[in-house]
Amino acid sequence: MRFLSGLQEPKVAVIGLGYVGSCVAAALADRGLEVVGVDTNTRLIDELNNGYCRFAEHGLPELIESGMASGKLRATTDAATVRDADVVLVTVGTPVREDGSLADEQLGGACFELSKHIRRGQLIVLKSTVPPGTTRGIVLPLLQRGGLVGGRDFGLAFTPERLAEGTALAELRSFPIVAGGLDDDSAQDAAEFWRDALDVEVIPLDTLEAAEIVKLADNWWIDLNIALGNELAKFSALYGVDALDVIRAANSIPKGNGNVNILLPSVGVGGSCLTKDPWMVWYSARERGLEILTAPAGRDVNASMPEYTAQLAVDQMTKLGKDPATAKVAVLGLAFKNNTGDLRATPTLDAVAALERACGQVRIYDPLVDVEEAAELFGKPQAASLHEAVHDADCIAILALHREFADVEFADLPVADDCLVLDGRAYYSREKIAELRSYGYHYRGIGR
Ligand code: NAD
Repeated sequence: MRFLSGLQEPKVAVIGLGYVGSCVAAALADRGLEVVGVDTNTRLIDELNNGYCRFAEHGLPELIESGMASGKLRATTDAATVRDADVVLVTVGTPVREDGSLADEQLGGACFELSKHIRRGQLIVLKSTVPPGTTRGIVLPLLQRGGLVGGRDFGLAFTPERLAEGTALAELRSFPIVAGGLDDDSAQDAAEFWRDALDVEVIPLDTLEAAEIVKLADNWWIDLNIALGNELAKFSALYGVDALDVIRAANSIPKGNGNVNILLPSVGVGGSCLTKDPWMVWYSARERGLEILTAPAGRDVNASMPEYTAQLAVDQMTKLGKDPATAKVAVLGLAFKNNTGDLRATPTLDAVAALERACGQVRIYDPLVDVEEAAELFGKPQAASLHEAVHDADCIAILALHREFADVEFADLPVADDCLVLDGRAYYSREKIAELRSYGYHYRGIGR
């Protein structure tokens, strides 16, 4: 049964107003839809209703503010409000347990709560990343608890969120959306909803499971490809070759539908997705008797990078005649990648820990992260300013290059003589490196 045909402006509810849910809710409200966001976290909802956005995502605070001001966007802890919605999007967290299995407490809780308020005619759309079979095997039975039947009384679809933090809003408005449905009508309703709501291309798939696997395939590929970039960097370094030159040149030949596309090496992979989704693949396969080798291999390589990065700094300082045991290191950028304040599974934590084991003093600084969260995670407060962090530093380790660091005048920094710039994710150009050298810095990057 089609439920959305003829509805000009469907009302939307978003369950789970974390990173993804906030971006999706704000983007839909910005397109003129009436959106209510529901979350169990009262502090998060209070913050949003007081005009504060905790996610350091480019453009998001402004979008939430304008959505709230226009009345198109509301935030509440009251799950009963989903009853008014025509489309209910589920964007709760889906972490994995130690063994790689889905920790389904958030998803189960959200669907259980939704089952109390679901009504005939609604389209329920899961966007959280899940192992294949979850929408059909966990979500559907929970939603049917009250007696309504999926496909007959309500629609059910899976359309994964594939945005990346730091560029989330632009990607939301441009990336194609993959849609699988419980039945054809659900899939068509979901496809029509996203096409109209965000004006993006929709790629329909035959089943829920196909759409679930697409999302996992994307992140499996990305993590494994970064691992290739990381091992290529280690390999290139053996020959004194700049890995970025190698990657640029290697990526110049066509293969498949595009070019060879080796991704960039770095201090490591973090965040809530790439660190868990390959394990979802591995665990789901293993449960069915298939041993996947590439997913864990990628994870292992990427997990080795923080230690490798710290060792690079230590070795280079030693070569410069500095004693690491008394050296001062300033770490700039703690978030898991450039231009986000997200500290989840950040590789910088292990890099800082390794530097602390080897070096005299390690100061940390990141203007985008939550100050209290960072202090708790790293076990010490941040420096009050960039200048305080780099004072007398023997090494500046740039582990996340936020826009805020782009204009730093290295010539003016109060660092020690022969200061090393350790580039963990800045990808400085030849010109920039030459400029740093002209100011008396030494430079070392991952595979550079
Ligand atoms: P998150 O932890 O930031 O947000 C999850 C939110 O859900 C939290 O605010 C939490 O309080 C809320 N929640 C939990 N249980 C709830 C319930 N029963 N009712 C209402 N709210 C509830 O997670 P996220 O980063 O936004 O990720 C959400 C999903 O999207 C995950 O499956 C993730 O894998 C996927 N994803 C994330 C990204 C990313 O970059 N963060 C990108 C693409 C996809």
